[in-house]
Amino acid sequence: MSMLLALMAGTGFLLVDRAEIEGARSKAEKHPWARAALSQLLADAEQALARPVSLPERGGQWTHWYSCKKDGAGLKTVSPSEHRCPVCGTVYRGDPYDAVVLSHVHSSYSRAVRDLGLAYRFTGRAEFARRAGEILTGYADRYKTYPRHNTNGEDRIGGARIMAQTLDEAVWLIPAAWGYSLAREALSEADRRHIESDLLLAAANVIREHKMGIHNIQCWKNSAVGLVGFATGNEELVREAIDDPERGFRVQIAKGVTDDGLWYEGSLGYHAYTMQALWPLAEAARQAGTDLYADRYRTLYDAPLALALPNGDPPGFNDSAGSNVTTLGSLYELAYARWRRPEYGRLLARTSRQSLQALLDGSEEVPAGPLIPEESVLLKAAGFAMLRAPGTAVAVRFGMHGGGHGHPDKLNIVTFGGGQLFGLDAGSINYGVPLHREWYRSTIAHNTVSVDQQLQANADGQLEKWVAAGGATTLVAVADKAYPGVTLRRSLTLGGGELTDRFECSAEAERTYDWAFHARGSLTTSLSLKARTSPLGEGNGYQHLEKLAEGRAEGDWWARWEAGGARLTLRMKGAPGTEVFSGLGPGKNPAERVPVIIVRRRAGKTVFEAVHQIETR
Ligand SMILES: [Zn+2]
Ligand SMILES: [Zn+2]
Repeated sequence: MSMLLALMAGTGFLLVDRAEIEGARSKAEKHPWARAALSQLLADAEQALARPVSLPERGGQWTHWYSCKKDGAGLKTVSPSEHRCPVCGTVYRGDPYDAVVLSHVHSSYSRAVRDLGLAYRFTGRAEFARRAGEILTGYADRYKTYPRHNTNGEDRIGGARIMAQTLDEAVWLIPAAWGYSLAREALSEADRRHIESDLLLAAANVIREHKMGIHNIQCWKNSAVGLVGFATGNEELVREAIDDPERGFRVQIAKGVTDDGLWYEGSLGYHAYTMQALWPLAEAARQAGTDLYADRYRTLYDAPLALALPNGDPPGFNDSAGSNVTTLGSLYELAYARWRRPEYGRLLARTSRQSLQALLDGSEEVPAGPLIPEESVLLKAAGFAMLRAPGTAVAVRFGMHGGGHGHPDKLNIVTFGGGQLFGLDAGSINYGVPLHREWYRSTIAHNTVSVDQQLQANADGQLEKWVAAGGATTLVAVADKAYPGVTLRRSLTLGGGELTDRFECSAEAERTYDWAFHARGSLTTSLSLKARTSPLGEGNGYQHLEKLAEGRAEGDWWARWEAGGARLTLRMKGAPGTEVFSGLGPGKNPAERVPVIIVRRRAGKTVFEAVHQIETR
């Protein structure tokens, strides 16, 4: 049987197959988490059945428009035509705001189609399937009358009809295709033809016209187009989604996944978004007899664990730094079911498991054990490292810049110990807010060296040494393209309860080197610093440093941050001509203020030597 015929014969429904439905039923009988997930699914489907179908007469808009123009705050929907800023009270009316609300309405129908399809399979009640069919034929009636539009309301490739971009159309289409496949059997031949040609294939064509290369968005589009191919028996769409040499699933894995499992954009947020995008196609293909579960694909599940701090949080590097690994439970339900890696199961043991994915794919038993690897890890290809000692971790970013979402922060470190995050990378905020570019994407906002108060260039750095043995880990990395004519080299050793940190800066002529360290908590220092009234700089992030104080450090000195029952002491070597500044900068939340120490020297060559000691009181 060809792969498509296997699906058309009704053994699988893209999202699940018949055996998995049976398995889910039996899990729900035995395990409270599966029972809760099934009750939630059936309650959602009942609600979709009770609510009359009333589809919007036009497409939606990009949800990123839904913020206040004055202060960047997310708006609250008072009514479909009234949108209020919770900070300053401004009320916005008309588009794009009204159309953003319609996007949420459209998304709720796509989810409802999936839930109704699943509820039909779990209960056998045909009314669930009929309601899914009613929503889908409603969209098939309207699809071509919804004008294609992009986020600026223009009719261009990249725009879409139900949503304002092909990415969002793809995200909408995936649950709709699942729901169709699940409910199909109960629909009339005429309805099937109408839904397939006027909605599923029509939407796939809008998405296919927009061609991208190796990118997280293309992965979403592949899944949508491939699922439509499987659902309608169109082999050309399936081949394109999986095998297109420029943009198909296989080449995304071959070229988008670095050798150490991190998605090439270097951001754990986009990494997780890519993982979300890939599995629907891998799963539908598996049911049709095509195995996309290659080992390189699997390594995407290793990177978030490799880079997690001891509490599961991501280090915070680059735009969209991601979230705690335990929030990725749904993704790891499928990964543990397919690959049986104990570390994926151990992550699940830390979650409630009350998810649809756990119900459908989850293993009945999951192993106990540590959440995060206990060994230091080097992601050499991506240029990230995690130095680990019991309860302590130092994340380092030294290599790949990471394209448009990379920050100019080579040799930046994030430190964790005593149950606390200390050395902080504040991450990113809404890209539309100017502070994102001015502070979060500045070099001085990071725990590295800025030269002449300038931003580092968007250049890669290199590893010089990595030794993890005998309870200590040493990393030496160099950035010689961050500033023209300047070589920056950081040598870090974590062991014996402390981090030894040596930062060498060298150039032919005299430069101004600023070594910065940001951490939450109350900051004290052995130096006597005096308030400084003038700003430290006009741009490149320096303009956002507040409550400045300054002093000099010819001899050895220390700075200490205390937070949540732990304290970090930085013991610094003094040198003639050393200036020290303290101040506050924006934190993960732009309203938060985080203490920073900046150590400044004017020299051709200099070495900043620090020992970081974290103690629990
Ligand atoms: Zn406002
Ligand atoms: Zn950053």
